[in-house]
Amino acid sequence: MEAKFTEAYQKVAEEGKETDCEKVAKLLNSMVDDEASAEEQTFFNSHIEECVSCFESHQKQKLLKGLVSGHLKRVIVPESLVLAIKARIQ
Ligand SMILES: [Zn+2]
Repeated sequence: MEAKFTEAYQKVAEEGKETDCEKVAKLLNSMVDDEASAEEQTFFNSHIEECVSCFESHQKQKLLKGLVSGHLKRVIVPESLVLAIKARIQ
């Protein structure tokens, strides 16, 4: 998982311009808070369908928000991931 993030950032550095992954990373908070525009949501959702690392980032972000607000109903993740994230927060 870590390696994929590193690869993505290296790719950015080589191209010297903002990639879709960077745009998605910036949209993460707005998406989780339901503040993204319809256009942003379309871009975001189509990207995470084909980009595993961004999909995982979104899942983690939603999970973190769920833990903070106490609503985990909408987030379906393996228990091992929940425990791993909880361990990281504590
Ligand atoms: Zn991506």
